[in-house]
Amino acid sequence: PAIALPGEMFGTTRHNSAGCDLTDVGVREPLLRRLAELERQRWTAGQGNGPRGEIRAPFDRSILVGEVIESSSADIDAMLTRAHAAQQGWDALGGEARADLLDCTADLFEAHRDEFYSLCIREAGKTLPDAVLEVREAVDFLRYYAAEGRRLAQPVRLPGPTGELNELRLHGRGTWTCISPWNFPLAIFIGPVAAALAAGNCAIAKPAEQTPLIGGLAIRLMHEAGVPADVVQLAVGDGKVGAALVAHPLTAGVAFTGSTAVAKAINRTLAERDGPIVPLIAETGGQNAMIVDSSALPEQVTRDVVASAFQSAGQRCSALRVLFVQDDVADTMLTMIRGAMEALTIGDPRMPDTDVGPVIDEDAKRSLDAHVAELRAAGRIVAELPLPENNGSFVAPVIAELPSLAELKDEHFGPILHVIRWKSGELDRVIDQVNATGYGLTLGLQSRIDTVAEHVARRARVGNLYINRNQIGAVVESQPFGGEGLSGTGPKAGGPHYVARFGTERVTCVDT
Ligand code: GLU
Repeated sequence: PAIALPGEMFGTTRHNSAGCDLTDVGVREPLLRRLAELERQRWTAGQGNGPRGEIRAPFDRSILVGEVIESSSADIDAMLTRAHAAQQGWDALGGEARADLLDCTADLFEAHRDEFYSLCIREAGKTLPDAVLEVREAVDFLRYYAAEGRRLAQPVRLPGPTGELNELRLHGRGTWTCISPWNFPLAIFIGPVAAALAAGNCAIAKPAEQTPLIGGLAIRLMHEAGVPADVVQLAVGDGKVGAALVAHPLTAGVAFTGSTAVAKAINRTLAERDGPIVPLIAETGGQNAMIVDSSALPEQVTRDVVASAFQSAGQRCSALRVLFVQDDVADTMLTMIRGAMEALTIGDPRMPDTDVGPVIDEDAKRSLDAHVAELRAAGRIVAELPLPENNGSFVAPVIAELPSLAELKDEHFGPILHVIRWKSGELDRVIDQVNATGYGLTLGLQSRIDTVAEHVARRARVGNLYINRNQIGAVVESQPFGGEGLSGTGPKAGGPHYVARFGTERVTCVDT
């Protein structure tokens, strides 16, 4: 093309996945028909003699999606033992050959995307647009970490001031246990696994207990692509299975995405284990804010707030929880945001016009409902969508106004937007309050004043700052994702320092 694509401008030829254009009826209608066909399919994940369980659709508990077989402690021990035996061979295979297998996995994910869409909708309750984004991100992680694996597999020649030959190489550390969340049951499930494999490690992939079927299909396709069965294995179950994997002496690293409390518990277990010091890469929660000043464009604020707070039913780590809006524009902004929220369709995620699907399960619903009940009792609710008749776990989008951030203790992982007004001259106080939460994941800023943007960028301690746009949907390689403080250990997913953190560096020095 006459105009260089962004990747080419930055010296890469890799492009992110094109996904699927749902605005094209010629694409959408046949897809919906294929998805209706796939509803008949029952899925399984796990193997062996462990306890069996059922997976039911979060939007309708009468729908059985599949069956799971939990991994026993004997299974876990056997998996880690097999992985340990396979790891040196996998490391020796070299970065190029490993990357080829990850690319091949990405191709298979794209070839099987209908099944993934179907499972993202039926097992995880995602809307179709979210399901499409999910598969794209998973494919992007695979291809990007493959490319990173190729890059990092190149030995690095270092200066030899006395004539010696110094060379640095990246090797696998052993077997990583990768424990992933239900909110990105494919992308964040496969991302850390792909990074671990790219760096020469084996991986035990433990999907969230709510979404093992998607993980099961992903690992089957990885094997079909040619990744040896012992190099990547699926462990199925709840937190007890995760805890057993973390405590096992053959787990050489843990990549975890989930709550801050669980990340700290993992860290304690790793610290107390006998033997080597074991690294943890954790991506955890947030108390994400957006700051709106009086120069912001109301239409844009409205669109970005609604997407950031309510898309994916607010079940993204990046989602907007607290909107700080300057008081002289607050009434106008809130009227518009409320109007846009009231235009959202909440309901069955199989329907193509659904904007807000269910929350993941009854526990999540109970905890969100309890928070909304507290807000109601305190007279804080300013708008709420009515819930349709349903047979699942739905929470209606809510807007609540708070006098200060002190009233909000925890992260509420759902479609609940808290609003706080601020006055001219208080910008630093707002940023400092957000910093003082201890989290540091995403921050949105809506302002047309360049110096305000520069000031916020300097003062805010967050991993991802989004200016005059929504604050969700970080793109692999373009917006590496992850926070600091209570939000995680780094490195950033989809960024240039991620894969290296899964490996160990060795230097060879040859005196000449
Ligand atoms: N990367 C996702 C985003 O930017 C969020 C990841 C998460 O929820 O853990 O929206």
